[in-house]
Amino acid sequence: MRKLLILLSLIGLSLAGHPLAAQTKPAEQPATSFPYTPGLDVNAMDKSADPCVDFYQYTCGGWMKNNPIPADQPRWSVYGKLTQDNQRYLWGILDGLAKNTKDRNARQQKIGDYFAACMDEAAVEKLGAQPLQPYLDRINGLKSKVELPALLAKLQLETADAGFFFGFGSNQDFADSEKVIAFATAGGLSLPDRDYYLKTEDKSKEIREQFAAHVARTFELLGDSAEAAKRNAGKVLEMETALAAASLSRVDRRDPHKLFHNMDAKGLKALTPGFEWAAYLKVAGLEKLNSFNVTEPEFYRALEKQWQSSSLDDLKTYLRWHLAHAGAPHLSSAFVNENFNFFSKTLRGVPELKPRWKRCVALVDGQLGEALGEEFVGRAFSPELKKKTLHMTKQIEQAMRQDLNQLGWMSAATKQKALEKLHSIVNKIGYPDKWRNYATLIVKPDDYMGNVLRGNLFESRRDLRKIGKPLDRGEWSMTPPTVNAYYNPQMNDINFPAGVLQPPLYDPKMDDAPNYGNTGGTIGHELTHGFDDEGRQFDAKGNLKDWWTEKDAKEFTDRAQCVVDQYAQYTIVDDIKINSKLTLGEDIADLGGLVIGWMAWQAQLAETQTKPEAREGFSPEQRFFIGYAQWACENNRPEDLRDRALTNPHSPGKYRVNGLVINMPEFEKAFSCKPGQPMVRENRCRVW
Ligand SMILES: [Zn+2]
Repeated sequence: MRKLLILLSLIGLSLAGHPLAAQTKPAEQPATSFPYTPGLDVNAMDKSADPCVDFYQYTCGGWMKNNPIPADQPRWSVYGKLTQDNQRYLWGILDGLAKNTKDRNARQQKIGDYFAACMDEAAVEKLGAQPLQPYLDRINGLKSKVELPALLAKLQLETADAGFFFGFGSNQDFADSEKVIAFATAGGLSLPDRDYYLKTEDKSKEIREQFAAHVARTFELLGDSAEAAKRNAGKVLEMETALAAASLSRVDRRDPHKLFHNMDAKGLKALTPGFEWAAYLKVAGLEKLNSFNVTEPEFYRALEKQWQSSSLDDLKTYLRWHLAHAGAPHLSSAFVNENFNFFSKTLRGVPELKPRWKRCVALVDGQLGEALGEEFVGRAFSPELKKKTLHMTKQIEQAMRQDLNQLGWMSAATKQKALEKLHSIVNKIGYPDKWRNYATLIVKPDDYMGNVLRGNLFESRRDLRKIGKPLDRGEWSMTPPTVNAYYNPQMNDINFPAGVLQPPLYDPKMDDAPNYGNTGGTIGHELTHGFDDEGRQFDAKGNLKDWWTEKDAKEFTDRAQCVVDQYAQYTIVDDIKINSKLTLGEDIADLGGLVIGWMAWQAQLAETQTKPEAREGFSPEQRFFIGYAQWACENNRPEDLRDRALTNPHSPGKYRVNGLVINMPEFEKAFSCKPGQPMVRENRCRVW
């Protein structure tokens, strides 16, 4: 299959008239430094467009034209490009540590050997499906349903995959954020969302047929006859559809109250009387556990029904599929390509598999992320940069304080609580204060699948060990090289990995205006998540507790509805509109974030007593908005957009820009837009 792909792409190139280009295309190389892209890039703009008609086209038109989607990507964006730059740099680090085995410290040995084993494609190829055999033997050897719980626990621990019927892990108690308890969650699906199983229009039916064909081909790779494989695939689809029907939608899952069902072992037993939890918990190392949050009780009722009504053979079929599905990316090319062809090519329109180095870098980042992150930070994130970005974060918080104080629609009582919550937010910038200790994880240079399984087990055990222990408030859930950021309502902290605080997102060489529009807006965005439709339901300590007066809650909901109604009008692809109840939290955060970013920029100007000057033909105010918009430049494939409409809580880049600026009078003024123009709105939405 892989050969066919290469052949097709060569034909494509020669038809385009560049037969030599394909042959002379230089091999990809690791990087030892980062390419520089300015925080405001005039070449990314399309100055022929009118900013008051389509601001996204105006700021990102050049970028979209000059940055076609690479063949191995579902979409392409400024964030995606920076992610790839970081990965290429990490490749350089890992390649060096894999080859020069002398003088490595323990951390360097682990990530170097992990990478080396992963890159040894010939060894992986030679093994075929063999690494799965011990697990297949266990599944095939199941003699009765009584043995299911212990095996299930083993499979979940060693694959770290919620695809085996349900998810099980640790989390902060919604009622008491200082406590870490067990969460039993919904899971068991292979497709990216329950709606893939439930929607009835033609496109969804077609995808389900393609999915079943993929499952059947995977069973054939495991050795089933064509006939048995087809029958087994039908069974998998049937079982997953029943689980999907009992799962909450993504919109429902935005409401933490719907996921809050604390119970003791008896309660759990009552939901699933046929499942021997004691046997499951014994393997998980949690024998005495008596406190659970079962996030979706209805799902567990459906599970019980399924375990009762399915034959032992059906259960084995389901487990065999999920084992192959979880293992496929780490097996020989027959599995890798089959998995890629459905989950990337069919579902998201990606023409080509990612080169092996990218998959291996991502895996080291996923399994040994803080060991790799320590190497990354030492080379790429200076203390000076940390100081600067921390300063900006404090300014953004100060601006939010000012914004809250000025807010006309909120009563003094609720304001006081909001300010208290804002004051309690912990800023995490760059990397954790204390690095994760991987000492007990054994990594061998010649045992790829063994490394993957030990890595999964290490992470599963680390996660479960937290249950019943005091909460570690210093923990991060993103690795330092990640080009992203997050707010966690239960920790009440904002987290900015070193990977996202780099040009073109944060550019120390630039004037303040684009930096406050871009990174300032992003910091404001994360802060605002503490006060979006979901985050506002948690208090300063991270407990799910209503601190709003009834009237203020209604005022908030009315303002949020303005945003819901606005984004519901935007089309994602074909006739699919934005599910604006799903994107509400992000849309509110985008708008609030930039409002606060603007205020912080004004404060910065006052603090430094500078009068900003026009540069490159743009006023400072214009540079603020162009800087903001240029993080969001992207190109999309229609297949990926379809998936995104169902699964992604963020609106597409175009609307994250145009949908936002029409709500800011500062934008209208900066570009002298006239009433009636598309980027000018009469009744603006404003929450924060
Ligand atoms: Zn967000």
